[in-house]
Amino acid sequence: MHYPEPIAKLIDSFMKLPGIGPKTAVRLAFFVVEMNEDDVMEFGRSLVNVKRKLMYCSVCQNISDRDPCYICDDSSRDRSVICVVQEPKDVIAIEKMKDYRGLYHVLHGAISPVDGIGPEDIKVTELIKRLEDEGIKEIILATNPTIEGEATAMYISRLVKPIGIKASRIAHGLPVGGDLEYADEVTLSKALEGRREL
Ligand SMILES: [Zn+2]
Repeated sequence: MHYPEPIAKLIDSFMKLPGIGPKTAVRLAFFVVEMNEDDVMEFGRSLVNVKRKLMYCSVCQNISDRDPCYICDDSSRDRSVICVVQEPKDVIAIEKMKDYRGLYHVLHGAISPVDGIGPEDIKVTELIKRLEDEGIKEIILATNPTIEGEATAMYISRLVKPIGIKASRIAHGLPVGGDLEYADEVTLSKALEGRREL
């Protein structure tokens, strides 16, 4: 099937999104052709803005539209504890339960020797620097319950112990091999409550 070039390009773009195959991409592209122009412009601006207007918070490395981010800048939060997660979406999952009031650190990945990802490829150095600077007493390692997540938690706990900081791992009512973001709020809340010291 030969599509006019603008449509062919849009189909290619949709196919770069996760979970979207050729059929869905074609359907979405033709849907966009029928959308009203204002909505399409707004959609286009939103796509560009997530790249242009978002940055990483220089403190916690979470994505934010300001630096430091709202969480790091919130003086009502408990500044003695940092919850360490793999991805920005994990922060959102934990924030949704509304009972964690400490700070965060986003690693942007996990250690995975099989994939050639070492500690230097994720935001570990930034975390250690914070521990030295900010008077942190405890870090909660909330990396995913996968081999990579466990390895990352172990690695970090070994690094922080000599500095005299308590490292704990979230309890695993969480499904093994699962992602934090898919845990329901009750499970996640219990996992955080039942954390054990490493
Ligand atoms: Zn931050």
